[in-house]
Amino acid sequence: MQLALNGRNAVVTGSTTGIGEAIALELASEGARVLIHGRDEARARGVAEAIGKAGGFAAWHTADLTDDESATRLIDVATTQLGPISILVNNAGRYDLETRWSGLSVADWRARLDLNFLSAVRLIHGVLEPMREQGWGRIVNIGSTDAHEPTQALPDYAASKAALSNITISLARECIGTGITANTVTPGYVLTETTLTYLRGVARAREWDDTDDQAIAHRALTELFGAPPGGWGSGSDVAYAVTMLCSPRADWINGADLRVDGGGVL
Ligand code: NAD
Repeated sequence: MQLALNGRNAVVTGSTTGIGEAIALELASEGARVLIHGRDEARARGVAEAIGKAGGFAAWHTADLTDDESATRLIDVATTQLGPISILVNNAGRYDLETRWSGLSVADWRARLDLNFLSAVRLIHGVLEPMREQGWGRIVNIGSTDAHEPTQALPDYAASKAALSNITISLARECIGTGITANTVTPGYVLTETTLTYLRGVARAREWDDTDDQAIAHRALTELFGAPPGGWGSGSDVAYAVTMLCSPRADWINGADLRVDGGGVL
């Protein structure tokens, strides 16, 4: 199957690290032109340069997506640098694995929803009209298995991701007949630098052997996360699913919620 992404212009939010970076690299390797977004200039430039060296095309821009004007400007910059945007991947998000109901203020809930949920709404507003004019578009929102099977941990995060996967369905219905699709990709446990940094801290606090990242990750899966049978995935595992959904081959996949978790949550 040829994914036929040549000539498509994509914005991937939070693509300076982790899952977003893997998505940007994969889309670029399939021919899409990509706007790398994050908050750290050096990292954003580094990912864009890596894509350029591999023969692809990428521009970069930093923006805090909790700010309406910055989000609007991100789409403006992407359109100037690449041309009309036809692919939007809402990946930027934050999670704090330590949050519980007891420690969360209303302001904390608001902040979580602002970034993980409303930032996607802001950007969707920015791309819908240009996608309608092109008669084609792809919106992929990165969810989480916590949205569907919340535990007592990170309730603010789980709720923000549940809201995101919910609006993906209303958006998909809104877009029927326009050539635009909206889908959710729902990762399970993905080993990224952010998760590893947290786990190294846990390892130190619990006096585990903290010299081997793989050993820490393995032990954390069992002792902290209930040993999900799917184990850890990588950013690339998620990126392959996202890239497939962004392809014209996925024209008839609209409003889906694709779990990418190794079968960890059934
Ligand atoms: P990460 O920390 O590596 O990347 C997060 C990205 O979001 C970064 O590029 C960061 O710059 C950006 N970001 C953070 N705050 C921002 C703000 N205010 N404005 C703009 N950008 C901001 O995280 P990751 O582990 O790669 O996760 C990426 C996405 O996947 C997140 O939405 C996360 O919730 C989701 N997810 C991750 C896992 C996992 O196990 N890692 C599992 C399920 C879902």
